[in-house]
Amino acid sequence: MPNIPSTVNGVAVDFAPAVNRNVVQGVLDALRHVISPDVAPGHNLARVFVSSARRQNPNNSRHNVGKAVDISRINGVRMSTGFGPDAQVTAIVRAIQRRFESFPAKRENFGPSAKLKEGAPFQVAGHADHIHLSVD
Ligand SMILES: [Zn+2]
Repeated sequence: MPNIPSTVNGVAVDFAPAVNRNVVQGVLDALRHVISPDVAPGHNLARVFVSSARRQNPNNSRHNVGKAVDISRINGVRMSTGFGPDAQVTAIVRAIQRRFESFPAKRENFGPSAKLKEGAPFQVAGHADHIHLSVD
């Protein structure tokens, strides 16, 4: 399985120190689908921060099979503080989550602006501070 690269469509991808970047190809395809400098009109996306990708936890998270990725910062700004107050962060988060809905293998799309599973509203705790995207 491939590693998430350090650049996607010209946008820099930063990683938290312990992130295991090794994911299924579908996660890379999803990132290429949603990450681009012009994802939100009027704003420039220069970098995203991946806080988690593959993990190994005793639960049924899609992370454990390399089928999910978490993004927690936009252009260096944490979503926990930027979503809402920061117009650029807010617009880009909304745009990424919106665009993911047109990705054919989309599964979970949880974040500050929406919580959807296979395109339908879904109840899940958390995700105010990051976007979690998973694929089939
Ligand atoms: Zn996640």
